[in-house]
Amino acid sequence: MIQLDRVSKRYSSPGMGSKDALKQVSLTLPAGELTFLTGHSGAGKSTLLKLIMMIERPTAGEILVDGIPLNRVGRSGIPLVRRRIGMVHQNHQLLFDRSVYDNVALPLVIAGFPRADIGKRVRAALDKVGLLSKEKLNPMMLSGGEQQRVGIARAVVNKPPLLLADEPTGNLDPELSAEIMDLFKDFARVGVAVMIATHDLSLIARYSHRLLTLREGHLVADRDETPV
Ligand code: ADP
Repeated sequence: MIQLDRVSKRYSSPGMGSKDALKQVSLTLPAGELTFLTGHSGAGKSTLLKLIMMIERPTAGEILVDGIPLNRVGRSGIPLVRRRIGMVHQNHQLLFDRSVYDNVALPLVIAGFPRADIGKRVRAALDKVGLLSKEKLNPMMLSGGEQQRVGIARAVVNKPPLLLADEPTGNLDPELSAEIMDLFKDFARVGVAVMIATHDLSLIARYSHRLLTLREGHLVADRDETPV
């Protein structure tokens, strides 16, 4: 679960003045719920994701990730917070100098999991996204939809309670987008809190999930509370 309580983020750069990217944003993403996050370019979506991932720190307000108050987490605690969050990127950021298996295993290797454990978890994650038979291939040999599924397997391989996705269907046609959405729904069904940041209004329209809308740093609509 993620909670934001009156979170603001101001970027200041010398000589450039300052910019309020988020203004007093409060929201809760409960376990087992899939939520869309939308808003025009510059509305603050990436900033929100960066604050949750601890790539940036808020200027004011409090963020709880899986019960951990982030403003009490120092530099050395950041990896532990990130381990609770699976992140899916638009361009999946796979490494093309190694196999599908090794790409998915990477977060576990970094976290120091024992080898036998890694094998079991990687195969379970690849099975979940329907790519068990392709573990030995280089991701370059896969289609765009398959590459995105490898990215999802890597994001969930250590079973994080939270899954964040930044434009995960940005490069995919509607049919493949639907496959990816089905995977996200499956994760929500087993208790993961899923947040999908997207511009894709047709994707949002096709599903009746909760919708958070940012405008110039303000949270202006929450479809659960304010039907649109
Ligand atoms: P979105 O992801 O919705 O496009 P962002 O969170 O990237 O929005 O940006 C929100 C606002 O904050 C924009 O006006 C952007 O220019 C500004 N911004 C983002 N990152 C920085 C930064 N590192 N320094 C200064 N301003 C930034």
